[in-house]
Amino acid sequence: MTPAARIPVYYSPAFNDVQHVWDSTKKHDHIHAALRARPDLPLTFLEPTPATRDQLISIHDETYVDAVITGEPRQLAQSNGFEWCPGMYRAVTFTNGGMVDAARAALRTGVAGVIASGFHHAESSRGMGFCTFNGLVLAAVELRRADLVRRVAILDLDYHYGNGQVEMIRRYGLNDYLENYGVHRAQHADEYLDLARAQVRRLLTWSPDLVLYQAGMDPHEHDALGGVPGMSAARLRARDGMVFEALRAAGVPVAFNMAGGYARDRAWLDGEGAVNPVVALHVATFEEACRVWTAPEAR
Ligand SMILES: [Zn+2]
Repeated sequence: MTPAARIPVYYSPAFNDVQHVWDSTKKHDHIHAALRARPDLPLTFLEPTPATRDQLISIHDETYVDAVITGEPRQLAQSNGFEWCPGMYRAVTFTNGGMVDAARAALRTGVAGVIASGFHHAESSRGMGFCTFNGLVLAAVELRRADLVRRVAILDLDYHYGNGQVEMIRRYGLNDYLENYGVHRAQHADEYLDLARAQVRRLLTWSPDLVLYQAGMDPHEHDALGGVPGMSAARLRARDGMVFEALRAAGVPVAFNMAGGYARDRAWLDGEGAVNPVVALHVATFEEACRVWTAPEAR
């Protein structure tokens, strides 16, 4: 594929425009700030179009979507694991819309990112594990409906299992055009990287027109909620480089999001200026995307 001149990156302050400060969304603001401070990276920042209720009820039960809008029933509204607040719905329409926009952009430029997460645990009838709506499935369904793709593969390299897309693929019978590939457990870093490489190879034999890549950082050995022994920052960078190189060489566009990555020490959230190690891990994904996709030729 031809090199990308600049990589589209979707972000909005609306991602974090909620009453309760969530650690993971606050992280996105720090990643955005860190990337803005890097003029050496050829990134173009774009405001996403928020997902609509009609789009969301095409993959989620109406009762669930309306619970997130209204806060009632409260238990369902909070099934994502967050305390409900009136701004929650609007914030997640932006993150989910950002995933859809990144997917569309990737078809044009080869690669695009969204500085958001919180998709892969969301099932058709409820949220779970800090995930409200499943932007990965939404992006696949939207692009397929617009006849822009025949097949979409999700590459889920978050530490945790992407139960949301697996449930939706099964419930809605999407498996003729949507498949989920993941690595969620490994005894050590070498095994993890071997498994990731094998999943990328498997995925490519299915010949997708687009890959939605969950670039989770919670396989990091020191992650608070995950952790594969021996998975260092350098090995996570190598993982992302491997993914981007393989997809570019195969001519398959990729849209990536941040997915998991949790600091053990929460003090940094209120700190000034310091670049948290978790933020640096996510920034490395962008560095690898730039390195691979702006190079003159695929490796
Ligand atoms: Zn995770």
